[in-house]
This record gives sequence, C-alpha cells and structure tokens, in this order.
Amino acid sequence: MAGRVSRLLGRLADVVWPRTCAVEACRRPVDRPYGHICSACFATLPFHEPGGACRICGMPIPAKTPHTFACEACATHPPPYERTCSAMDYKGAIEEMVKNFKYNRASWLAEDFAEMLDGAVRAHLDGAAVDAVFPVPLHPNRLRKRGYNQAALLARALARRLNRRCDERSLARIRDTPKQSLLDGAERRRNLKGAFAAVRPQFVRGRVILLIDDVTTTGSTLAAAAEPLRAAGAAHIWCATLARALYDS
Ligand SMILES: [Zn+2]
Ligand SMILES: [Zn+2]
Repeated sequence: MAGRVSRLLGRLADVVWPRTCAVEACRRPVDRPYGHICSACFATLPFHEPGGACRICGMPIPAKTPHTFACEACATHPPPYERTCSAMDYKGAIEEMVKNFKYNRASWLAEDFAEMLDGAVRAHLDGAAVDAVFPVPLHPNRLRKRGYNQAALLARALARRLNRRCDERSLARIRDTPKQSLLDGAERRRNLKGAFAAVRPQFVRGRVILLIDDVTTTGSTLAAAAEPLRAAGAAHIWCATLARALYDS
C-alpha cells in the first residue's frame, strides 16, 4: 500500500512541471507541446499497422490469406458490431502504460491515449457520422472498487476530440462477472452472456454508436456490450479500442 501511495505521489509529481515521459524506462522531459510521452517514445509505439486485420473484429488475418474484408469467424458468425479498430498492439510501453492507467490511477494518460484512438478512428471509421461515444461500462461493484472506469476516461477524451456526445448512461453492466483475463475464448463468451443492458433504448435506437474500450483480446466484451445495443435498434455499432492484445500473449 505504502509503495502504491509513493508511486502515486511520484506520478502526481510527474505531472507538475516539467512533465516527464510516462514510459518508465525513459522518464526524460516531454518535448511535445502536450501529453506525457516524449517524441522519441511516441515514435516507437507499436501503432497498429493498417490492413492485415479483419475489418469487423480487428483480428489479424494471416499474411498468406488473399485480401479479404472479414475473417472466417466473422464471415460465418457475424458479431453484433460492424467494425473494430485498435490504435496499438498491446505490448511493451503501451501495455505498461495501460496497466498504470487501469490500476494505478494514471488518469492523466487519457489525453495521450485519446490522441492515439482519434488517429485510429480517423483512419478506419467515419468519425463525423458518429452520434454518440459509449464507453464499455463497468459493473457498479467494480466501479466502486476501482473508483473510475478507464474506458469512460478514454471515451470522454475521444468524444471531446471528435466533437461528439459521450453517453455513459444508456448502456449498463447489469451482471458482475469474473475477470475475463482468467478465461479462454468460449468461457469469455459464456461469462458475459446477458452482462450488459441498453437501459435507455431511446438514446440507442437509430443512432450510430462508437463503443470504446481500453484493450480488446477476443472481442467478446465488445460483442456482449454491442448485443443489447443491436437489439435496441442502433443504426450502426462501431468499436474502437486503444490496444489489441493477441490472445496467447
Ligand atoms: Zn520517452
Ligand atoms: Zn473478424
């Protein structure tokens, strides 16, 4: 606990002038006009290469496969959302920063992450067509424990950049489920069945919704969150996540 507090105080000190780079191995003063990542570290971040991934679920498609829009899984069982894009691969400095963002209250990274997400949305989706940005919600029990929803911090910062409404009230997590990271693909889907509900369907029907999460692995959380939005009559459901983790990593 004391270590956590001193880490937190250290991070608080970091945001006071001069800003030091959020990459732990770097910690040089930030030479960019805003944010908390220096230009050298920013340039080496594992930006997700465009192409080579399923446009629906975002899963990498093996290089040998002829150019295709959707992976086999999406072609046979289309998920309840139409598109997914991720800004980064979940590894190295990004993994370290996302963990700090999620578990160590490094909420000051939201703007840096929103900048990365914004780039992915502009490259892969039509940001101007979005009616509302929805964060993947946490169950109230989890929210009480953690004190904040990291996906909501991202969604708010991204919505500001896109000049779109951030809606944190129309989609709710109604079932507290065990941690996804401990489960495999099929268990993840079972675990999340009925976990989300569109509690204000009038704000969903006919809307183009951009669903935001920090990290996606199998896409099962996005699918479970999109399901009630689809059922409530959303016009389009697109997803954007900061990072894409490979399932076996
Ligand atoms: Zn740096
Ligand atoms: Zn796919």
